[in-house]
Amino acid sequence: MNNVPHDSAAPRHALPDATGHFGRFGGTYAPETLMTPLAELGAAYLAARDDPAFRDGLAALLRDFAGRPTLLYFAERLTRHLGGAKIYLKREDMLHTGAHKINNAIGQVLLARRMGKRRIIAETGAGQHGTATAAVCARFGMECVIYMGATDMERQALNVYRMRLMGAEVRAVNAGQRTLKEAVNEAFRDWVSSVRTTHYVLGTAYGAHPFPMMVRDFQGVISRESRAQMLSAEGRLPDHVVACVGGGSNAIGAFFEYLDEPGVALTGVEAGGRAIVPGGHAARFAGGKVGVLQGCKTYILQDGEGQIEGTHSVSAGLDYAAVGPEHAYYHERGRIVFAHADDAAALDAFQLLCRVEGILPALESSHALAHAVKIAPHMPPEKILLVNLSGRGDKDVWHAARAMGELLPQ
Ligand SMILES: *Cc1c(COP(=O)(O)O)cnc(C)c1O
Repeated sequence: MNNVPHDSAAPRHALPDATGHFGRFGGTYAPETLMTPLAELGAAYLAARDDPAFRDGLAALLRDFAGRPTLLYFAERLTRHLGGAKIYLKREDMLHTGAHKINNAIGQVLLARRMGKRRIIAETGAGQHGTATAAVCARFGMECVIYMGATDMERQALNVYRMRLMGAEVRAVNAGQRTLKEAVNEAFRDWVSSVRTTHYVLGTAYGAHPFPMMVRDFQGVISRESRAQMLSAEGRLPDHVVACVGGGSNAIGAFFEYLDEPGVALTGVEAGGRAIVPGGHAARFAGGKVGVLQGCKTYILQDGEGQIEGTHSVSAGLDYAAVGPEHAYYHERGRIVFAHADDAAALDAFQLLCRVEGILPALESSHALAHAVKIAPHMPPEKILLVNLSGRGDKDVWHAARAMGELLPQ
């Protein structure tokens, strides 16, 4: 499990290349009208990244508004319960608005302001990214429009109301299945006609260049912190880091500082859903093929004709047909290994963490936990397993209760 082979000729900072490629993945598949704005965004981002004033401003907001650094927590009772590796949790669930998504929302809104853009748009599935974006826009008094599938709006009425409370306009998308994929299309449609005044805050390490790179860098704070915290807690790096993978932003952020450390195994956990059959899951590396969707080349769940397959997961945040291109790259090199946890295993892990640690994890994060539950007992007690707890589960209580056969009053 350790000493995973990887290509030391491609250090993590060298990717993507100037054209936005991670090997054969990634790129810029966008409408003609967005090619110049995307190039300008990439250039503005690289300049900001090198500017100490931008970095200081970002660090201050992450600290004062979002609540960083997040804790590195030794899960003592979970460790004892499983009887193997020592388990640590990186507590992204402690952040303002409840998940890692705020790291990226703050970074992109600061960049938009630097570029003189005063209007923000975003897409959201379950509402977590929309909520984080709405919060940052409220903090700066900026106009904020969130595109959301009409079906998702019904399922996530509370998040819709939270966004509206913070001053965002939530626009219902009625096309297709009326979920995340259609909301992304609608956000792009808006951006094509508004790009001079508007920045599109994409919510995960996905899409056309420079988004996968930018979002990765903003989420990289997770592993920059965990690495230093682990060295001070244990005097060494973890043996294995595990994170759940929707679009891939919390995972690439949690892995980034360990990519060049051959002694640290990295596992991304996708949604195994009901079963690995078409329409039953969202495990792109288990059932997907290489193709192009919404801006980049990557692994996608599609049928023989290239039609996008339906997906299913108990957790809305992992329920997407494609995965970030950087993960596709490291998957093919064997540097990041991908596993999947099904709905039932995630629900079990969700309850277990509540009971033995008093921590209510997001259903997304519960997929990473489910994998830890599976492998920790087979690891010797001197090994260290770090699980990225991407978010808190308060948003999921009603849905989890229903999935476990209980109906709570609305
Ligand atoms: C959105 C979300 C995810 C999935 O998104 P990634 O970009 O893959 O990180 C995971 N966990 C939580 C708590 C989320 O809100």
